[in-house]
Amino acid sequence: MVMTRNGTKIVGLAPDRQHGFYGRDIVSVRQFTREDLSYILSVSDEMRGIVRRVGATDLLKGHVLANLFYEPSTRTSSSFSAAMSRLGGSVIPIHGVQYSSVSKGESLPDTIRTLECYADVIVLRHPEVGASEVAARYASKPIISAGDGVGEHPTQGLLDLYTIRAELGAVDGLHVAMVGDLKNGRTVHSLARLLRMYDTRFTFVSPEILRLPEENKLELAEAGRPFAETDNVEDVIGTADVIYVTRVQKERFADLREYEAVKDYYTITPALMSRAKERMALMHPLPRVGEIQYDVDDDPRAAYFRQMENGMYVRMALLAAVLGKA
Ligand code: ASP
Repeated sequence: MVMTRNGTKIVGLAPDRQHGFYGRDIVSVRQFTREDLSYILSVSDEMRGIVRRVGATDLLKGHVLANLFYEPSTRTSSSFSAAMSRLGGSVIPIHGVQYSSVSKGESLPDTIRTLECYADVIVLRHPEVGASEVAARYASKPIISAGDGVGEHPTQGLLDLYTIRAELGAVDGLHVAMVGDLKNGRTVHSLARLLRMYDTRFTFVSPEILRLPEENKLELAEAGRPFAETDNVEDVIGTADVIYVTRVQKERFADLREYEAVKDYYTITPALMSRAKERMALMHPLPRVGEIQYDVDDDPRAAYFRQMENGMYVRMALLAAVLGKA
């Protein structure tokens, strides 16, 4: 456990076994126990129920969220914003950091110190791995990572887990195939880390240069989870319960010729889906840039739009939990 200057906040990876999400940062899925996960998934169910029945609640009335994005975002920023509004709170949106004092050279710690004077919780997306942990060290209010470079995207991991359970009824016993840019895709890193806590078998499908980092493979091996690697989606199409497709992360390539060589490596088509299991979930964190053809969208197994809707419920649950109102 790390204490901040005011000596009260639990920072980063401290495990908490009493669902004490109150005041806690969400910076990596490594901080969660299975118990934490079932707690957040069940609060997310409750949030979905509230939104579907009455649209909103005043659980977080008077609370303020600062949404601080140093990288582009559509779903994460707007679903956090919608989540806070539906809980009765309000949002300070900072999406174009070029229009904030960051463009005058203000550091991340100073920006965080500023925002926490006005907000009760800060959502941060940043291009550098570990930026949310750094921010958490300076902040006395909870920091929720919305993605740190090629590191992790913990809230996406949670909503992916929620979606798998919602689509297939359970998480244990599944064969999960992850396809695409497994090296740079932070959502893959978070989801693989979460799923290793379940009885899951993995196949990682990517071109050689986009393989899952060694660190993640080591973690799976330590957790005793079997995994295989291939560059051919044909190897998993008939057996996977979940096919989790990702975009090749153009913005992470130093050499754009390398990107061009792999960008169209995989395309999920109706013909390919005709050979997938009848009961399975085709997922994608989105945005897609050609990896799943539009004419797959009407397939009942195409779960990516439901997946992004689930993001709002899970983020409602997290906001309520860290603000002590879940
Ligand atoms: N939206 C996800 C992320 O921010 C996935 C992606 O951009 O490909 O990581």
